[in-house]
Amino acid sequence: MWYEQPFRKNENLTTLLRAIRELATFPIRIMEVCGGQTYALSRYRIEELLPDTIEMIHGPGCPVCVTPEETVARAIEIARFPGTVLCTFGDMIRVPSDEGCSLQQLKAEGKDIRILYSPLDSLKIARENPGKEVVFFAIGFETTTPVYALLLHEIIDKKIDNLTLLTSLFTIPAAVSFLAQDPECLINGLLAAGHVCSITGTETYERLARELEMPIAITGFEPADLLYGIYRVVQLKTQGRNLTVNAYRRAVPAQGNPIARLQTARYFTPYDACWRGLGTIPASGLKLRPPYEQYDARNRFCSEVKPDIRPSVCRAGEIMKGKISPLRCPLFGNRCTPDTPLGASMVSSEGTCAAFYRYKTN
Ligand code: SF4
Repeated sequence: MWYEQPFRKNENLTTLLRAIRELATFPIRIMEVCGGQTYALSRYRIEELLPDTIEMIHGPGCPVCVTPEETVARAIEIARFPGTVLCTFGDMIRVPSDEGCSLQQLKAEGKDIRILYSPLDSLKIARENPGKEVVFFAIGFETTTPVYALLLHEIIDKKIDNLTLLTSLFTIPAAVSFLAQDPECLINGLLAAGHVCSITGTETYERLARELEMPIAITGFEPADLLYGIYRVVQLKTQGRNLTVNAYRRAVPAQGNPIARLQTARYFTPYDACWRGLGTIPASGLKLRPPYEQYDARNRFCSEVKPDIRPSVCRAGEIMKGKISPLRCPLFGNRCTPDTPLGASMVSSEGTCAAFYRYKTN
């Protein structure tokens, strides 16, 4: 049974909860950075078990949720070009544009839009369709970008000239730093995402803890991982120590994955990226380096004119800053549901609104 597994075992969780309750005698706001952590917190109803002194803030680490409206509009623009095949991950096709259109809708109208599990599958599609332009709509963070680097390597090595990338790539530390310094956000501690740190290593977060003057725990995604991470953050806060602990050693080596970082740096360079709901954050995104710009789908397809994006009714930005709970969005659960999402946060299972809808309204 699932609850017999060590990271989900009742007695282990009860021990951790007791330890947290004993320590958390003061108010503390902890941001879990990753959408996978948000999903697990909701799925196992962990927030309901925590003492009232601990407030969890659901951060920006869902790639579907932070891909900006402008990029979704670009994907739709590209998918409408005759003779194109637009490939991406499943959740991305359901994200509505500001006009209410989505890639899913275009697919239903007969446009060639394909859901792939791996970006590398687009190589086969490009080879099998030499008369068509294939575009991979590439979203993600530090964990996914090395796969796009591998895809680019293959495109160049195999001289494939009909496959390009529409990128929406972000790096977590810059966003965390931005949010932690936002006076509206007011966080006192962080749960960093274990899978991101398995690429970046721990050093970046050790520096971040010093700069932001708050404790950070690198955690995994099982209930015991999350509770242990929360416990360590509260413990460090109690001791007045602003440092990073690796609470996910079984997956995160201190040095991360240097080969993946090297490949990412070979093809991508940082830039000031726009995050949906948060705006532009300095040096928080990755775009193709100049020698590889020919593989950028924007250069092959998109007009110079920026799409005219209307102000959104979605309040996901406020949720990411911890200003409101999804339950306070007036559209939550009535006009905005997983079947009829009005914002990206209701689309992906890692989106805070979708996680709340699935686990907190039943
Ligand atoms: S409920 Fe829908 S509209 Fe409201 S914040 Fe969430 S995704 Fe946005």
